[in-house]
Amino acid sequence: MMPSVAQSAQLAFKREPLVLRRSREQVRDYVIHKFDQDLPPRELSGLEAALHRFGLIPDPMQLRPTMIDLLTEQIAGYYDADSNALYIPADIEPSQLRNVVSHELVHALQDQYVSLDSIITQQGHNDRRSAAQAVLEGQATVVQISVLMPEQRPDTYPVGWFWQQRVVAARLQGQMAQFSRAPLWLREGLIFPYLGGADFIMWFRHNRPGRSVLTAMPTSTEQILHPDRYAEGGVRGRVGLVHGVGRRGGGGPVFDGAGARVGQAALRAALRGEAADHRWTTGRAARGRARGVERLDAPPPGEDQGHSRLNT
Ligand SMILES: [Zn+2]
Repeated sequence: MMPSVAQSAQLAFKREPLVLRRSREQVRDYVIHKFDQDLPPRELSGLEAALHRFGLIPDPMQLRPTMIDLLTEQIAGYYDADSNALYIPADIEPSQLRNVVSHELVHALQDQYVSLDSIITQQGHNDRRSAAQAVLEGQATVVQISVLMPEQRPDTYPVGWFWQQRVVAARLQGQMAQFSRAPLWLREGLIFPYLGGADFIMWFRHNRPGRSVLTAMPTSTEQILHPDRYAEGGVRGRVGLVHGVGRRGGGGPVFDGAGARVGQAALRAALRGEAADHRWTTGRAARGRARGVERLDAPPPGEDQGHSRLNT
């Protein structure tokens, strides 16, 4: 599968990654390790307070155990840069293996061209980090489609097509216990890097043919959502808010650093979603909510209907 991944990503492998199996318990240990690394206690309590305050997660809900349970359930595989290895949970069904391996191979390849570790651990630059995650996951999503379904032509999909698929994605994942219980804020945060990122990648392929997105990473989720602003190279319209964080492994809430700013991706979810039920009662939130009638688009022909976990 490596040659077709390399061809679709238009990058050559410099070395072969390892493939290792992991029990779900080991996946959980990894999730805990990464979560605590990304979110030191002070940052965690700040974020949790902010999410409570804005009504984005219910008051009694604690973020850390919720996210650990959610990620442990959702992870279908992961690539760990420290060990140059793809990790595949032992309980993944054989029919899902190609899906998982094709996705994680893209991350292994990316890691041979940019330092994934340094991208993921940019402390205090959480919106920038979320933007980078969206590029990495978006590229993996697009390449994965080309590898698994060569008859598909993502380049012909309409603009914004991937993000419109979030309802379908959420429905598939909604069959799982933790995901179905999670607040909208967390669910969309989990899905955004894959689908929002894939739309950005499609824009990049159309507008920067022959170039590698890894050499010119966007610096904010605003640029992911509005690639024309990425093209301009500027940052504008940032929204001040409170505490913040990002998280490894599928994106998650995209608040910027403590005391700083919230990313647009997070804000969009907030305006459209549950926040309007609580304290975001401005006209903007109401408009966002009115627009938030979600479309049920058909999945692409041949899409794997059984897919209900995340390749992180
Ligand atoms: Zn991934």
